[in-house]
Amino acid sequence: MQIESKLPHVGTTIFTVMSGLAQQTGAINLSQGFPNYNPDERLQRLVFDHMQRGDNQYAPMQGLLSLRERIAEKMEMLYGRSLNPETEITVTAGGTQAIFCVIAAFVHPGDEVILIEPCYDSYRPSVETVGGKVVTYALQAPDYRIDWQEMGRLITPRTRMVCINTPNNPTGTLLRESDMLALEALLRNTNILVMSDEVYEHLIYDGEQHASALRYPELYARSLCIYSFGKTYHNTGWKTGYCIAPPELTKEFRKVHQFNVFSSVHPLQAAFADFMADESQYLGLPAFYQQKRDFFQQAMAATRFRPLFCGGTYFQLYDYSGISDEPDLAFCKRLTTEYGVAAIPVSSFFSDGRDDKVIRFCFAKTEDLLAQAGEKLSAV
Ligand code: GLN
Repeated sequence: MQIESKLPHVGTTIFTVMSGLAQQTGAINLSQGFPNYNPDERLQRLVFDHMQRGDNQYAPMQGLLSLRERIAEKMEMLYGRSLNPETEITVTAGGTQAIFCVIAAFVHPGDEVILIEPCYDSYRPSVETVGGKVVTYALQAPDYRIDWQEMGRLITPRTRMVCINTPNNPTGTLLRESDMLALEALLRNTNILVMSDEVYEHLIYDGEQHASALRYPELYARSLCIYSFGKTYHNTGWKTGYCIAPPELTKEFRKVHQFNVFSSVHPLQAAFADFMADESQYLGLPAFYQQKRDFFQQAMAATRFRPLFCGGTYFQLYDYSGISDEPDLAFCKRLTTEYGVAAIPVSSFFSDGRDDKVIRFCFAKTEDLLAQAGEKLSAV
């Protein structure tokens, strides 16, 4: 049988490859982004309580209303936007599923989608699965700054969407108010939509504010914003997130979402709705993760790796050009097998595989593990 692949250039995602290699070799896994600690005990108990109470059948397609109400309260408090939970918020099976649905709902065959690279590895295949064309704007290491005028030159009559991500995976950079206003101005009088990936909204350091698209009325009018409970409550394996967009965009988003997963896991949603009442859980995250970032940087200080700026996310980039001129994938594999620490090569976040000799470590780990990793890496 002849199979014509829709994604001929796609293999297994780098996160699965590197986590697999770490597991096989018993290496410390700082590759794929996930914590090595558990979600709060109370949250775990709430899930069980809701299961016992009978929240085991399909949740509503849009998500539990009680959860959407809590989300609306949080977003109003943090970003000053009043949202209608009925028409602007949809609970999803995690950020990646929400991103796929945003793209599938709006991108027609032949439409162009601008990706600012390095970017999360699901964006491109999502666009290509639905027949869209990716147009890339590649940023330069080490500061990965966006020149909006330069980016604007990529806009054509076929441009349907621009994808942004702040705080940024993998670079740890932030978009600031000036970026959001520049993007708002660039898209004025166009029909271009924005997919704003904000899954690391609470992982932001040094007193910076998250520049959510929700804060900018004109930008929000054309945006679909993506969030993740996994990053906020230390349970990436629960695969629950949400999408916020104006009513007319949410309507189209839900048309695809309902036939993609229909609805997301019911007892988890019920537990999150209860747990969200405690604001300190997410308000404490910047301090919690800033301490981990600083601890990891300290643990790495004696190594020959050179840190890049990290203002957000739980990822820290390191330049290894002073150590080796090997390609970053080969270098990451060797770090795993020979030195016992797994990382992610940043070339995986570029369509053209550009290799700046920069790799990504996840510091969402307990201090003992971060210290051990630093020790192992000081032998490199
Ligand atoms: N977002 C996580 C990361 O960048 C991984 C997600 C995944 O493995 N699909 O590491």
